[in-house]
Amino acid sequence: MTNFFRAEVDAMTGYIPGEQPKRGSKIIKLNSNENPYPPSPKIKDVLQNFDWEWLRRYPDSSATDFRNAISKALDIPADWIIVGNGSDEVLNLVIRACTNSQRKVVYPMPTYVLYRTLVEMQPAERVEIDYPEDYKLPIEELVKVGGAVTFIATPNSPSGHIVPVENLRELATRLSGVLVIDEAYVDFAEGDGLSVVKEFENVISIRTLSKGYSLAGIRLGFGIAHPKLLQGLYKVKDSYNIDAIACAIGAAAMSDQNYKNYCAQKVKISRRKLSGDLKKLGFKVWDSQTNFLLVQPPQGNAEYLYLKLKEQGILIRYFKQEGLEDKLRITVGAHEENKVLVEALSGLVE
Ligand SMILES: *Cc1c(COP(=O)(O)O)cnc(C)c1O
Repeated sequence: MTNFFRAEVDAMTGYIPGEQPKRGSKIIKLNSNENPYPPSPKIKDVLQNFDWEWLRRYPDSSATDFRNAISKALDIPADWIIVGNGSDEVLNLVIRACTNSQRKVVYPMPTYVLYRTLVEMQPAERVEIDYPEDYKLPIEELVKVGGAVTFIATPNSPSGHIVPVENLRELATRLSGVLVIDEAYVDFAEGDGLSVVKEFENVISIRTLSKGYSLAGIRLGFGIAHPKLLQGLYKVKDSYNIDAIACAIGAAAMSDQNYKNYCAQKVKISRRKLSGDLKKLGFKVWDSQTNFLLVQPPQGNAEYLYLKLKEQGILIRYFKQEGLEDKLRITVGAHEENKVLVEALSGLVE
């Protein structure tokens, strides 16, 4: 304990990101849901032709080129879009703009661990509601809390399941606070929540270029909502949260939907193959609409397998968390990576 910090900060643990091995190491990295394919080749041209002299200027504070490209790709007006330094920043903007010590933030568990960290930083009340076994959304409990902010990740991590759009619509109708639909994995899913965003002023969809667009390293995400909702978020945003290079890269990536869809299709094919291979080894595998799989090993010895794979240079994710102790989250890699993983696991479960 020090007295440097606010009580909330002293009390918090801090977010623990997935391990990032050194570049060039021969690790097979299936722990952070990164895309196994490189970003759009159009980005190479952007970097090669970038006017470096222009870097002496501050960047465009609302990243107009990037927003226009999003607008065009998703057929949403540009003033319905706010961009962030990763979608994590947009999630944080919502918390910053909407919470205080009397206001609640609620979400179903298990879900993206960062929500807890973001709320812990603020003087806000955190309410976590357990998902049932079958991952049906606990609508009544969520509504009863009446949060200033309700987070729903769909598709969800680490379960990989999708929340039906009728459930999102019902929540939007019955909540007076902000409903955040975190659609980080939407590029690998069937359907999305955009119709709900268009219909309700209290709903924001938050998306990232880290997963579908293979750009985790550049930190780009965005939110889509009615301009009335974005107004408050713009007030609490750092003025220059997107640098000029990222803005140009983001615009190029969004303009190349064909390439993104092509890679997502390959991931979906590998997802089906990996799921089948793991089932053959006796794993329970949850249906996934993402680029990862939640699995339960036949002997339930998830932590052991996680550690053994690590010794063999394969990183996957293990959460020491209630309900997840006997499960593993495995990112769908490229074909060869998945093959090495399955071979290693088959040696370990026998
Ligand atoms: C990966 C992930 C994000 C964060 O994406 P960034 O844009 O890289 O910050 C947000 N939400 C969920 C559920 C994620 O899995």
